[in-house]
Amino acid sequence: MARSRFNPIPKPKREPKDKWATPDNNFSKFIRVRDCLYFSGNTNAGRCCTCGKPLMIYDADCGHFITRDVHSLRFCETNAHMQCKLCNWHRKGEQAKHQDYIEKVHGPEVLRVLQNERNLWEANVRRFDQGHINLQVISKYYLQKRKDLESGKIEVHELYEKYKYL
Ligand SMILES: [Zn+2]
Repeated sequence: MARSRFNPIPKPKREPKDKWATPDNNFSKFIRVRDCLYFSGNTNAGRCCTCGKPLMIYDADCGHFITRDVHSLRFCETNAHMQCKLCNWHRKGEQAKHQDYIEKVHGPEVLRVLQNERNLWEANVRRFDQGHINLQVISKYYLQKRKDLESGKIEVHELYEKYKYL
């Protein structure tokens, strides 16, 4: 029997694209370029924020101090730094060392703000669902911000200096 409009062929279900993939990727590239510039003055070579090992950008991860599950800190610049894969994966992020690093480079006030945000999140006081985070905007923002760093439109030390007053 021919299929009619009453009996349509079901559309094949597509795998939903991971909604975080592109914004995560653009944010990660921005963080790694930023930290390479911070450490070495060029966009290819930097260091791991927790063990200090010299790293090339393509071998590096963007490590989060407070995990990406806390969505409100997933794209927070003071919460993420260039990290080696050993620290990020095998040593589970080296959270204590990452905390020391944040305190050293951004100051204790920034660390306190991050911890406070995590506490609010975990206490369920502040919960963003997907609709409150515009991933397309974030994605474009970090794509452009990385280009601005690479072209010298934004200066990395000015950027780091700004974090102290967040
Ligand atoms: Zn490391």
